[in-house]
Amino acid sequence: MFSKKDEVNLEDLMGITPALLYLHTAFVLYCGHNDLPVTITSIMDKVEGRVSDAHHHGRAIDYSSRGWTSDDVEGAVKHFNKKYAKLAAVSYTDNKPRALIHHRDPNTGALHFHLQVRWMDYPELIKLTKVIENYKSTKLLACLRK
Ligand SMILES: [Zn+2]
Repeated sequence: MFSKKDEVNLEDLMGITPALLYLHTAFVLYCGHNDLPVTITSIMDKVEGRVSDAHHHGRAIDYSSRGWTSDDVEGAVKHFNKKYAKLAAVSYTDNKPRALIHHRDPNTGALHFHLQVRWMDYPELIKLTKVIENYKSTKLLACLRK
């Protein structure tokens, strides 16, 4: 489903926020459907010179864009910023919600994806994702009652 850089500790996925866990899963599924490689390059580690503290707070994951064409990149950025605007972190610079950013790492200069969410708790996430995925809670409840 996905790979990671050697130095990335996958246990950090246990510390990310509910909304990011949801969006990370959506990203992995999107890449699976579109036959695109997923490589995690950073989760919660603290990196000097980072503009936001989103990683440190479990609200952002970075992925490599190696093996992606510019059309692939553009398509994913459009898709995630449109579909997940209500989960997305709001940019300081222009107050616009952005779930997926493709940019250069200020330290290494490597192009990569930065997937980011705003803070929300589980009840808020469940409410939102029901709207996003058209989740039929009544159907699920009916199954649970059987
Ligand atoms: Zn990042």
